[in-house]
Amino acid sequence: MEIVPGVHKLEVPIPNNPLGHLNSYLIQGDKGCLLIDTGWNTEEAFRSLQDQLRALALGLRDISLAVITHVHPDHYGLTGRIKQVSPVRFAFHLWERAFIESRYIHFDELQQKMGQFFRQHGVPAETAAPLERASLPALDFVTIAWPDEVLYGGEVFTFGEFELEVLWTPGHSPGHVCLYEPSKKLLFSGDHVLPTITPNVSYHLQSGSNPLGDYLHSLNQLKRLPVNLVLPAHEHVFQDVTSRIEEILRHHEERKQQILAIIDAEPKTAYAIATQLSWNVPGKWQRLDALHQRFAVTEVIAHLESLRMDGEVERFPSDGIIQYGPPASS
Ligand SMILES: [Zn+2]
Ligand SMILES: [Zn+2]
Repeated sequence: MEIVPGVHKLEVPIPNNPLGHLNSYLIQGDKGCLLIDTGWNTEEAFRSLQDQLRALALGLRDISLAVITHVHPDHYGLTGRIKQVSPVRFAFHLWERAFIESRYIHFDELQQKMGQFFRQHGVPAETAAPLERASLPALDFVTIAWPDEVLYGGEVFTFGEFELEVLWTPGHSPGHVCLYEPSKKLLFSGDHVLPTITPNVSYHLQSGSNPLGDYLHSLNQLKRLPVNLVLPAHEHVFQDVTSRIEEILRHHEERKQQILAIIDAEPKTAYAIATQLSWNVPGKWQRLDALHQRFAVTEVIAHLESLRMDGEVERFPSDGIIQYGPPASS
């Protein structure tokens, strides 16, 4: 689908996932094309990407550069496979590069530490193991490639009449990047800003100390950017980035208030808080699968740590378990 002349949206299927597909964007230049994100590594996704390129009379060899917004499997999974058949140059952020080894090659240590982390945050022993393992199935959908170019933010890539600036937007992932085209006012927003879903922002071993603070900060920075069209990695293209950012900011503020109300009477663990909150998934807490329970707990910690940085909650560690409550002095 041609969104504006020279910019095509390719829909790469994600199997058994409510999101349905990843939006990959192809920008046509005079000497080669730019691809933004690749999709999961499945036969179906790989074939679909090639078919959609073929429909534009192009092939993988016509892609000179692929920018990966972040290394989650739905954005990064196909990179290794593409690299095997074509000399595409890959570019992604320094922090995303740092996760490849621990997440996709030697993942045992990280998995073990995540188990300890969940127990520390109050996850009962019988639930901690499934939560610890919940991200493993995604490994099947990743073929790794290292970046040919490491991004830091601020780089500009010229493709034909498009000048794309790399914006470093940490939060959903520490090295997440968006691409911005100032003359046409296009924002390729990756998972940073989506039209109806609020992207998952989790606190975990690799998230940095205040991922929600990072996320809210990078959202606020985008608010002042002149944007005519947002091209997100999931769902649909949309126009009004400022109102969408305001909505997301309000959502996180409401979430913080709900959490503060839950711990008002006595300190609680992140797990206990997560089981009391309402989640946008049908059914009660017990009916959430391990992966969604994992997202829920790590999202709650992200909110708690952001509140802690603002002095609104305190951590109360005891016997290896962390509880959060109002500051002791108040
Ligand atoms: Zn993501
Ligand atoms: Zn995604």
